[in-house]
Amino acid sequence: MNLLEKIPEYIFLPSCGVCKKLGEGYLCNKCGKDIEKYKIELIESEKINGIQVEKIYLFKYLGIIRRKIIEYKFNDKPYLYKMFCKTIIENKKTCEFIKSYDIIIPVPIYKKRKKSRGYNQSELISREIAKKLNLQMFNNVLIKISNNEMQSKLNRKQRLKNVKNVYKIINKEKITNKDVIIFDDIYTTGSTINECISILKKANVNKIGVLILAKD
Ligand SMILES: [Zn+2]
Repeated sequence: MNLLEKIPEYIFLPSCGVCKKLGEGYLCNKCGKDIEKYKIELIESEKINGIQVEKIYLFKYLGIIRRKIIEYKFNDKPYLYKMFCKTIIENKKTCEFIKSYDIIIPVPIYKKRKKSRGYNQSELISREIAKKLNLQMFNNVLIKISNNEMQSKLNRKQRLKNVKNVYKIINKEKITNKDVIIFDDIYTTGSTINECISILKKANVNKIGVLILAKD
């Protein structure tokens, strides 16, 4: 947990995550409208590794969305999770979708990477969603057991191979017979998510869903 996250909100006024304007929360009205341009909020149902999965994609990975996700992940700006969370929970269709699940699980990152970055970007957003929409968030069920190459540096074929045997499930009983939604920030080829789905399936979950912030 980053120190910045521990500072109570009443000490300072939240500012817009895009233009830094004060007084309109974590995303101001103007930037909120700009972001709407990239909204897709698309629901798809698909059979993946033998299990029917419902997925929702919120934005296109373009423009301001792309820039902010890159800043959030790589420029040490953990506080941007508040802004992303606002864009998620203010959409009725998305909220209805998320609330049809019991548990949210962020795609994990390897512990060494988490230590050097200071946070798992997907975990911060998942925790906030769980808090706002009354789900449980588990970061100790799906874990990453090896530090593979970053997916963004690889082509499609390499990506598929790169995610094999890097995830593991522990504390299975926490999710058995539950409706579980997995959260990831960026979706490109689907290799990561598909691998996570096949791992989670082993815990005999009742239903699996996928929530994606931005589709590349
Ligand atoms: Zn703004």
